[in-house]
Amino acid sequence: MSCQIEITGLVKRFGTNTVLNGIDLCLEPGERVAIIGPSGTGKSTLLRCLNWLDQPDQGQIRMGDVTVDAARASRADILALRRRTGFVFQNYALFANKTARANITEGLTTVRGWSADRARARADDILAQIGLADRGDSYPAAMSGGQQQRVGIGRAMALDADLMLFDEPTSALDPEWVGEVLDLIRRIADGRQTMLIVTHEMQFAREIADRIVFMEGGRIVEQGPPEQLFGRAQDDRTRAFLRRVG
Ligand code: ADP
Ligand code: MG
Repeated sequence: MSCQIEITGLVKRFGTNTVLNGIDLCLEPGERVAIIGPSGTGKSTLLRCLNWLDQPDQGQIRMGDVTVDAARASRADILALRRRTGFVFQNYALFANKTARANITEGLTTVRGWSADRARARADDILAQIGLADRGDSYPAAMSGGQQQRVGIGRAMALDADLMLFDEPTSALDPEWVGEVLDLIRRIADGRQTMLIVTHEMQFAREIADRIVFMEGGRIVEQGPPEQLFGRAQDDRTRAFLRRVG
């Protein structure tokens, strides 16, 4: 099958620290890919580069018919990538001074240019899908961590993006809220939404992902279907990591 999303030779440096050292990755339409690896290895940076929250130094990102080259990315290119991606942050990153509904409409009215009425109807539909139909007027501080992250996910869902990016979406949550957030992500995955998810939840990754990518030191060390990567990893570094987390 051909790639819907194609990442080629992606390099990112912070000063003299090369954090991504030549990442190549192809996502097929509807493919759900989980990224695992030690902390400090560049997983968040990879996700952030994909919608230009961090600016890559070299390489190309193609999403559908949009190709963006790090060396000569225009403002229009970057906007085009952002329109094709939805990002779910570890710490929710909700606007504290906006209601749940307004957090969801924000991207629709600003990035998408939707009218307020159209965005509101979409947000109310999304609030129902994430089980928060009655919390549209609530502010983040009045919601549990699980509810806040469901709003964070709803905000990304509302964009109907080609690619959803999840960066450790449950690792800031108290244990009691993890299940409801994983359930929501599982539902999105069941809909064959193309996604990249960085997660420490190995059992969850095994369950929902078509492919597991193991990263270390800014490189993809090894990748394969869950049963292969978790069952018979080839690389010593992968096996050492899995022993540590398992
Ligand atoms: P991971 O998500 O795998 O834990 P990160 O992508 O967050 O790793 O970080 C990879 C490396 O990049 C780390 O050494 C981190 O300190 C560094 N880094 C990340 N963001 C920045 C930044 N904005 N400025 C400087 N260094 C950064
Ligand atoms: Mg990270």
